[in-house]
Amino acid sequence: MDIKHGIAVSPGVAIGPAFVLDTEGVRIPHREIDPAQVPAELDRLHLALANAAGQARNDQCTISERLGPQYGAIFAAHALLLEDPGLNRELDSAIRDHLFSAEYALSRTIRRYAKALEAIGHDHYLASRAADLFDLEKRLLALLLGQHREPVQQLTEPVIVLAHDLLPSETAALDPAKVFAFATESGGRTSHTAIMAGALELPAVVGLGKFLTDVSGGDIVIVDGNQGLLIIDPDERTLQHYRQLRDSQQRTARLWLEERDLPPVTRDGTRIILMGNIEFPQEAEHCLDRGADGVGLYRTEFLYLGKQSDPTEEDHFTAYLTVLRTLGPNQPVIIRTLDLGADKFSLLSSPPTTERNPCLGMRSVRLCLSNLTLFKTQLRAILRASAFGQVRILFPMVSTLLELRQCKMLLAEVKEDLEEEGIAFDRDLPVGTMIEVPSAALIADLLAREVDFFSLGTNDLVQYTLAADRTNENVASLYNPADPAVLRLIQMVIDASERQRIGLNVCGEMSGELIYTLLLLGMGIRQMSVAPHKIPEMKRLIRLTSIAEARRVAEEALRLETARDVTAYLREQTRRLLPEAFA
Ligand code: PEP
Ligand code: MG
Repeated sequence: MDIKHGIAVSPGVAIGPAFVLDTEGVRIPHREIDPAQVPAELDRLHLALANAAGQARNDQCTISERLGPQYGAIFAAHALLLEDPGLNRELDSAIRDHLFSAEYALSRTIRRYAKALEAIGHDHYLASRAADLFDLEKRLLALLLGQHREPVQQLTEPVIVLAHDLLPSETAALDPAKVFAFATESGGRTSHTAIMAGALELPAVVGLGKFLTDVSGGDIVIVDGNQGLLIIDPDERTLQHYRQLRDSQQRTARLWLEERDLPPVTRDGTRIILMGNIEFPQEAEHCLDRGADGVGLYRTEFLYLGKQSDPTEEDHFTAYLTVLRTLGPNQPVIIRTLDLGADKFSLLSSPPTTERNPCLGMRSVRLCLSNLTLFKTQLRAILRASAFGQVRILFPMVSTLLELRQCKMLLAEVKEDLEEEGIAFDRDLPVGTMIEVPSAALIADLLAREVDFFSLGTNDLVQYTLAADRTNENVASLYNPADPAVLRLIQMVIDASERQRIGLNVCGEMSGELIYTLLLLGMGIRQMSVAPHKIPEMKRLIRLTSIAEARRVAEEALRLETARDVTAYLREQTRRLLPEAFA
């Protein structure tokens, strides 16, 4: 038995036979050509490029139908790249001036781009875009050489897919009826592959490091998408343990789903609002399926990722309308304006390169306030969408009062424009600010006077309070929402919102982790927004406790002095109420 540790990107446990996608690149038959062959070679190249662009556009349609236009857009971007005049000129020159074969010219040029992206650093969003280029290289070489990788679509029995790097097109083509899970040697948390695994709700682990040489097709493997493990050739005891775990998780999930229409009301009668966090419009359905009270955080920066050009006002508007139509007229949707920068980058709206501390730099609302055209385009679309449902707007990463005032002023300007143009919108559109920077938590009393609601972003609040990068595994032990310093800031925000009687939602990952539910309820939180698949278990826990009990737990937790003690205490208290969640 061999246990590999990687990055858990989509939860769940799966056991099954391995299907190993080939790891070999396509063999390139020859590097150079005779000068007389140049015209014919150029024709071969252009035919392959045109066919590949055609295939990418077909994929765009198929994937858009299956998963929605956001996913299809990735392949539209592939097609655009294939048609890019600069790339075409470079390839022509490699053939004409260097007498490279079409295959070699392609492979060399595309890999050079891919390596440049990878060199930016493995944690960087752009590094994971190199996978898209390898995808294109394979597609083109297959066309030139008439070779085909064994397609995952032709699977006859359910398997666990293992690959060096599952390409975006391959992930999107996975049929959940035939694939239990997948695991890859490379890949990061923000890769398209990881995002699609979540959307397909397939257990997945990426970034496992080299393992493909240790496994053969047909070997039994376990993917533990909760812990980020791949277990090759498990012994009987491990197999038994995971079978029980898988079965009990499936049973529990079924039970929780059956209760999805029961409201999350505590034993002493307090109704808690549980909403869903989404990145793609299609995920609004996941919220409905889990009995959510609406969308509590729509991260719109994903509209930008994987695109060759910034989305237009219509692109924004169409995406928002899809969410509103899916949820219906009674469910609120909190649309957060662009939070690009730091770990979330698009190709076009990046800051002027090399910032020494991108997390402390030109990101998020700062980026928007320095690019008013970009910002106003989104504000217009959000306002227009507000005529079609219960829209609320949320500004991210606000760190000073003036910043918030600037955002509101701009919103007022855009409202005036729409008014003049006779375009309908909700004049009373509720406005909120994220509280995710310690400075915002410290002036929460001032900010509270100027907004309708707060949304507590614990992911960034923890990172900035403890000066511990949320993506850096080396400081992961410091990064802890249960740290007393974080809890004191959270308490300040709760107090300020209560005094000013404005709404308060917690939307960071902390709110979706069961061990913090009692603490947050006890501290005064009544609204949380979490990954949709977390909603059923949270409902269950909320229905098992009372506000009185949660207050007792919170009082005790807030007396403790270290994050470790707080975590251990909360885990124990939660386990007592919901032991099945800790199986
Ligand atoms: C947060 O910081 O807690 C948050 C919800 O925003 P994001 O994770 O998108 O940075
Ligand atoms: Mg944040």
